[in-house]
Amino acid sequence: MEIELHLVPEEKRRPVPELKNLVFGRLFTEHMFVMEYDCRRGWHSPRIVPYGPVTLDPAAIVLHYAQTIFEGLKAYWGVDGKIRLFRPWENLKRLNRGADRMCMPRVDEELVLEAIKKLVLIDQAWIPREKGAALYIRPFMFGDEPTLGVKPSHTYTFMIILSPVSAYYQEGFNPVKIYVTDEFVRAAPGGTGEVKAGGNYAASLKAAEVAKAKGYTQVLWLDAVERRYVEEVGTMNIFFYFEDELTTPALSGSILPGITRDSVLKLAHSWGLPVSERRISIEEVIEGAESGRLKECFGTGTAAVISPVGALAYRGREYVINDGKTGPLARRLFEELTGIQYGERPDPFGWTL
Ligand code: PMP
Repeated sequence: MEIELHLVPEEKRRPVPELKNLVFGRLFTEHMFVMEYDCRRGWHSPRIVPYGPVTLDPAAIVLHYAQTIFEGLKAYWGVDGKIRLFRPWENLKRLNRGADRMCMPRVDEELVLEAIKKLVLIDQAWIPREKGAALYIRPFMFGDEPTLGVKPSHTYTFMIILSPVSAYYQEGFNPVKIYVTDEFVRAAPGGTGEVKAGGNYAASLKAAEVAKAKGYTQVLWLDAVERRYVEEVGTMNIFFYFEDELTTPALSGSILPGITRDSVLKLAHSWGLPVSERRISIEEVIEGAESGRLKECFGTGTAAVISPVGALAYRGREYVINDGKTGPLARRLFEELTGIQYGERPDPFGWTL
């Protein structure tokens, strides 16, 4: 399928604002990608058009029953002037796993990758040039058939929008304080936690608000059944560096398989560190923080890459990790991953495109 281009004429384009101190996800570029699906034609009319609102019927399924999935990745302006994507195939595979789970049609991964590349090139003036900043890419799909019946939509829209983002660490690579909730859960076995379905994020808002009101940056999620095993932190995966092991919760069905998570596992393994994926109880974490066996704890995700955790609050007590400081392993992983993303370091795994 050919991607049609309906671009804003050069003389009518908005001047690119100064791409500094941006609030995440508020500013969007000049163009977006759109295509539609219906049962008769499948996906059709892929095109790049001026950025703008979409028209939805008030009965559109997505507005009522949240039949929607999304992805998140970034385009980086390299130190060599080359634009790089980081493991975009993994995002496309995850998107299609989400489509299966949510009874939505799969997309052609080659076509969507081509759409991402074309769109980023067309709006490349919006890629911030400083290290750490990037152009956030948000592919998403929703069911838009107008019906109040609870069933999979017969029609869908798929879009890609772009948003320049500042470096996540403007005030230094500092650890955050986390609130462990045993009241709320993010995802349950058999649910949709392992895909990027919009409803997962709506369901997580309450716990995040409670944590913020108590003075914490994010929530640490425990498993839904026993409220005992660690799952994720906010919208990141979580790692624990015990004396002799770097470990992260095994993908249980209710954990999102993060691409940064997978990259950290592969990198650490290649450095000769003992890595594992297993069940990790909150008692083990707390015992480790108290005894000093737990050397470091950090979250991983596309937004922050690595986010050191300096303290955990659980059942009214606060437990400090590594004296509340960023540890050497978190720093090394951050330097290595961003080095690969910005073309400063070799890419032995062939992760960038
Ligand atoms: N968990 C959740 C719930 C997320 O939304 C994300 C962000 N996609 C992650 C983990 C991290 O995934 P990734 O490393 O692919 O960004």
